[in-house]
Formats: sequence, structure tokens, C-alpha cells
Amino acid sequence: MKNNKKKFTDYMWIISAIYLFLGIFNILFAWLGVLCFLIPLIISIAGGGKSYCNTYCGRGQLLDLMGNKLKLSRKQSIPKFLRSKWFRYGFLTFFMTMFAIMLFNTYLVFNGTNNLREVIKILWTFKLPWNWVNTSMVSPWVAQFAFGFYSMMLTSTILGIITMLLYKPRSWCVYCPMGTMTQMISKAKYKEKI
Ligand code: SF4
Repeated sequence: MKNNKKKFTDYMWIISAIYLFLGIFNILFAWLGVLCFLIPLIISIAGGGKSYCNTYCGRGQLLDLMGNKLKLSRKQSIPKFLRSKWFRYGFLTFFMTMFAIMLFNTYLVFNGTNNLREVIKILWTFKLPWNWVNTSMVSPWVAQFAFGFYSMMLTSTILGIITMLLYKPRSWCVYCPMGTMTQMISKAKYKEKI
């Protein structure tokens, strides 16, 4: 008989949705997103393979919910080029380069070269003023990192939603940088064992 009993891990999507909401309410909550960056890597390095993706990723569940339960997805096959190695690794390289630039901008604010810029950059292009929250209780670089990190999280969510609408619900998972990295780590660990 099929076991339909829900587990707490089936509700990780709520955490992802709350995270996005909290960032609008106060940008400093963006720091919590660092956990979504570190936990999959730690699990993978510890030998857990892709269990973060399979069990704990709220974003994957959120896209699944929107695409399947809310029927927002066209459920079309994802184009071949998005599944190709060059695109996945190319996108990972691009994403990590943008991440490094974001860290460098944080450093420039930390050492006083630049002033804090209270903007969110969507798709690495469109700047949205995001200055309704007083961040003076923390150092400017702490706030700068939050703006940069939230920009990345929002951008990847938008890309995930666009590909969910156009193709299959979890199409984002095909080229998600975290998924590509955990896959690389798992492959390297598997090779180590043989
Ligand atoms: S590939 Fe990315 S979005 Fe998909 S389940 Fe894994 S970490 Fe989450």
C-alpha cells in the first residue's frame, strides 16, 4: 500500500518561500541563504551525494509545487542545450564568477573604498532600489553582502520560475549551480572509492 504520510522534509518549500519574503521585509535575513550554499556542499563532501537535492532542497520543492500542484508549468521537454555539459559547467563558472565579484564588492565596502549601495540587481543587470530598511545597526559590508547575496538568490529564483513555466517544473535543477557542484563532488568521491 502506498504510504501518503507526509514527512517534515516535504515542507522544506515553506522555508524557501519564507526566506524570499524575509528578504523583502529586511535585507539582512539574506545571510540565512548562506546555509543553502554550505549545507549541500557539506552533505556532498561528507559522502551524502545528492541527498540535499533529493530530500532537503526547498527551492526544488517550491518549483515542483508551482509546476505540478498549481499547474503553472507547460511541462515541455527541456531544450537539449540546457542539459548539455558545456552549458551546465559554463553556467556554474559564470555563477561563481558573479559570486566572486559580489564578494569583492563586499570587500571594497569593508575596506572603505566604496560606499554601501542599497540596491538589488536582478539577472545581474536590472537595479532595483531597496532602501526601505535601516541597516545602520550593522557594518556596511555586512549589509552589502546581504544585498549581493539576496540579488543572487532572487535571480536564481526568477530563472527557476521562468524555466518552470516554459519547460518541466524542476528544469532549473538541470543547470542549478549547487546541483552541478554536488554532482561534481559526488563523482569525485565515487572515483576515490574505486
Ligand atoms: S539542483 Fe539546485 S534547486 Fe534543484 S534540488 Fe538541487 S540544490 Fe535544489
